[in-house]
Amino acid sequence: MLTIRDALAWASRRLEINGIASYALDARILLRHALGYSDLDLVRGVMYLSEEQEVRFRGLVSRREQGEPIAYLIGKKEFMGLELAVDQRVLVPRPETELLVEKALALFGSTYGSAPPSTTMVSDESHPLIADIGTGSGAIAVSLAKNLPHATVYGTDISADALAVARGNSVTHGVAAQVTLLQGHFLQALPGPIYVIVCNPPYIPQEEIPGLDRDVRDYEPTVALSGGKDGLNAYRSIMPNLSTYLLPGGFALFEIGFDQAAALRALAARHLPGARVDVYQDLAGFDRVVQVSQVVPADPES
Ligand code: SAM
Ligand code: GLN
Repeated sequence: MLTIRDALAWASRRLEINGIASYALDARILLRHALGYSDLDLVRGVMYLSEEQEVRFRGLVSRREQGEPIAYLIGKKEFMGLELAVDQRVLVPRPETELLVEKALALFGSTYGSAPPSTTMVSDESHPLIADIGTGSGAIAVSLAKNLPHATVYGTDISADALAVARGNSVTHGVAAQVTLLQGHFLQALPGPIYVIVCNPPYIPQEEIPGLDRDVRDYEPTVALSGGKDGLNAYRSIMPNLSTYLLPGGFALFEIGFDQAAALRALAARHLPGARVDVYQDLAGFDRVVQVSQVVPADPES
């Protein structure tokens, strides 16, 4: 029989020799999950694992050894302070993507992020339409709906499997009535023009996929990762239709790869001439979010 201490030491070692950098933390998270305990229970030490708990724990550790992401093993990931259900049908929401949500919330003068510059100030949009195109787990759509209770949020995805996960998350977090999930191509699935469109599309160049961490490459859906030859396919397909799907004075926010800002600027200049483009950096200092702000047509009376 394994004690808690022995189980942790054994799992840490197994994960370490299998190249898992966060071996000690992962061992702890998996043990907690296998036992259904809190951290406090772990330190108080119910001393021995039952046979059933040991089998469960060994199974989890062996899957982690192969590189399966912790979030899939425990079936959840925190995003914008919300616990989201995730599994292999969806990309695990990334911390960088919180910047995209914060910038979207800032457009509404929400307490998140800084106040928008006056040129992009939202007028009297009290019941705004928002769309998260390529919604995956629904991380962006659900967190926007939670923070903006008067907004109507659409989430689109090509993957019916992903939409099933997003639906579960919208129900769990009590925003199912606010969030409409639609299957189809990014913008084309939307019923009409939208005020704020948010998008974290697949943007990794195809040839970089084989070199990704195995946790990502071997487990996350390829449709959520691969942006075609140069990573820009999704943007190239969305940008020409953006002005049709944006309300006058509306905004689009895209997550991008660290070296893609110039390409996004060029696409926006070509397809939305006159729109303002801002690029924001993530906490690591990399370009991560591009904001395209439609200019409100001048009022001929004034
Ligand atoms: N929004 C989620 C997030 O930020 O965690 C998931 C982002 S993931 C990088 C990209 C998502 O776009 C995946 O869920 C994928 O299924 C979806 N997707 C890929 N191609 C698409 C397409 N042509 N139309 C709609 N969604 C697409
Ligand atoms: N940031 C993700 C990664 O590098 C990529 C997600 C995406 O393509 N949108 O794993």
